[in-house]
Amino acid sequence: MELGLKGRKAIVTGASRGIGRAIAAQLADEGVDLVLCARGEEALDKTAAELAHFGVNVHTARLDVSETDAIVPFVERAADLLGGLDILVSNASVGTQKGPEQWQTSFQADLLAFVRLAEAAVPYLERSDAPAIVSIGTTSAFDTLPPTGPNSYGAAKAAVTHHAAALARTLAPQGIRVNTISPGPVEFPGGTWERIKEQRTEFYEGVRSRIPLGRLGTPEDVARAVAFVASPAAAYCTGVNLVVDGGFVSRVQF
Ligand code: NAP
Repeated sequence: MELGLKGRKAIVTGASRGIGRAIAAQLADEGVDLVLCARGEEALDKTAAELAHFGVNVHTARLDVSETDAIVPFVERAADLLGGLDILVSNASVGTQKGPEQWQTSFQADLLAFVRLAEAAVPYLERSDAPAIVSIGTTSAFDTLPPTGPNSYGAAKAAVTHHAAALARTLAPQGIRVNTISPGPVEFPGGTWERIKEQRTEFYEGVRSRIPLGRLGTPEDVARAVAFVASPAAAYCTGVNLVVDGGFVSRVQF
């Protein structure tokens, strides 16, 4: 299947490692020019250098998405560097937080950041002939994982997923598609699940044993799904929440 991504222009947030990095690599492999952001400059520059062999333009910007006043200037600069914008992938997340501040932190970095990124991107996406927004959710948005208990991460991601669905309907008249990719547990070197595997082996094995496909996901599993929904090949998909979890969540995906 031809995805039709070659020559397109994308922003990927939180792209210096893990899933965001794999999304950037997958899009680069499809011929997409990129602006990548994260807080840490060193890992970001390393990622950009590693993507050079794909022969696309890769720009980087240091950005903390929770500093929401910085989002409009970031998107403006990114669209300027790229010469337009076709795709926004909102992937950055502060992940699971602890303590009373977790609610404010998740609200700011996961929910409000996505709201502001989408708002800032729309004026540029409107000028694309195949515009798409992809929000990275999580199965934790609709499935609590015992014994973790209530946490701001799942609650914020539930709100992010809701907002993406609402945006899909609102932006459809402009031709802007908005979809969510919801990964289940994803493992990679230096990632959360690698740490859990080392430090809480029993919990890790319990989760792994609940995944019908018998393994945790890889960043590439997620990245391929992102590339599809971001591409013109998915021209009639909007408001979708595509769960990429090896069958982990048992609910029926109506
Ligand atoms: P990760 O390993 O923690 O990487 C997160 C990336 O985002 C890094 O590049 C990080 O770089 C950047 N980042 C974090 N906070 C940021 C901020 N405030 N502003 C800008 N950049 C920020 O995360 P991941 O596991 O790859 O997860 C990526 C996405 O998939 C997230 O939305 C996550 O919720 C979702 N997800 C992950 C899993 C999983 O099992 N890994 C499962 C379901 C969903 P800096 O630290 O340098 O900023």
